[in-house]
Amino acid sequence: MATDTWVNETLYPAWGQRFRIRRELARVRSDFQDIMIFESESHGRVMLLDGVVQITEADEFVYQEMIAHVPLLAHGAASRVLIIGAGDGGVLRRVLQHRTVARAVMVEIDGEVIRLSRQFLPGIGGEAWTDARAEVIVGDGIDYVRRAPAGAFDVIIVDSTDPVGVGEVLFTDAFYADAARILTADGLIVNQCGVPFMQGDELRDTSLRRARFFPHVGACLAAVPTYVGGFMTLGFAARRPGLDAVPVDTLRARAEAAGILGTTEYWTPELHWAAFQLPPCIARLLPRG
Ligand code: SAM
Repeated sequence: MATDTWVNETLYPAWGQRFRIRRELARVRSDFQDIMIFESESHGRVMLLDGVVQITEADEFVYQEMIAHVPLLAHGAASRVLIIGAGDGGVLRRVLQHRTVARAVMVEIDGEVIRLSRQFLPGIGGEAWTDARAEVIVGDGIDYVRRAPAGAFDVIIVDSTDPVGVGEVLFTDAFYADAARILTADGLIVNQCGVPFMQGDELRDTSLRRARFFPHVGACLAAVPTYVGGFMTLGFAARRPGLDAVPVDTLRARAEAAGILGTTEYWTPELHWAAFQLPPCIARLLPRG
């Protein structure tokens, strides 16, 4: 009998998911992490970094739509966007769908993630890689924000790995201090903040840090099936109040103007608004006030 080949995610020592592999496509030890891309039986192609699920073809749309469309449509007039991490290209593609975006800079520390994503996950980044508005930089996000000029961006999207290893610096006071400096007066930042059911400290601790540099801190939810443990949270911090409570009709009008309305499989104006209605078990992880 053919033995099934499975890969187990390593995120949690005592609980997790596994994928039955149809075939392995890439396995590279880069200068930063172990990169594995395989064809799964159930979720299309999957990328793991250090054994942790980053993206699957089957459900990547949920996460990419929320981490890109929510901040841009909440802002309402985002023209210059900084993306940190997101080496698979999915966030860049969604950001550039907004015809209101004039420039998108993407800073990914690991060039191998970009190379392998373009080769084995071409549908994730699509044409974004060659869009004239895009600038793709291989480098450390913390260095980029340190050198960037004040007021250079309207929105910063941090689609990094968890705050361990190379991703750790993207959740520090130094990072948020520079992020606050390089954002415009109406700017906002969004960070992937893990699954609170299993990683509550990630949302709690990083929200306290964001609160030191931004007056308005919150989070929104996304139900990403392969980020096991329930809702995934996107930590949110803004200078302007009310960016987490933009009315549905306003969101619909902005999505229409940006050319996003009707192109999504998860995001809708109603779901955007609902994503900020946090259950008490998650709301209590955020700073009070
Ligand atoms: N959506 C996934 C999640 O929520 O876990 C993240 C996907 S994306 C592949 C994560 C990327 O962040 C990786 O390619 C990793 O190399 C990159 N990254 C980690 N630390 C970084 C840093 N300091 N500067 C820039 N990119 C970084």
